[in-house]
Amino acid sequence: MFCPQCKSEYQEGVVICCDCNIPLVSALKCEPKLEVADFEEILITNNEADIAIIKSLFDSEGIVYYFLGEHFAFPIRLMVNKDQADEARELLKDLIASSLDNNNSDENSKETEEK
Ligand SMILES: [Zn+2]
Repeated sequence: MFCPQCKSEYQEGVVICCDCNIPLVSALKCEPKLEVADFEEILITNNEADIAIIKSLFDSEGIVYYFLGEHFAFPIRLMVNKDQADEARELLKDLIASSLDNNNSDENSKETEEK
């Protein structure tokens, strides 16, 4: 795997360049822009606990994801492989609902109670 930006080589299984925070491509000959476009923003969070939960959840479900801005500053944007975006949103539903519950949203807590 290669980073399209800094050209670093990574071993199989690594999906993100830890320097550039962008998805790796299997070969530099590939169009790196297409690879990047295959990721979709799912969530923006500034909650470190949420991020830890998301990581373990997605790791166990085999979802390809990365966090944009993780090593820099909050808020962090969760990017997921477009093919898995719907699946990822499903997985995050409960997490997002409970996280909103804890914060303030009346609308969302109402929706959750009805289920
Ligand atoms: Zn890089």
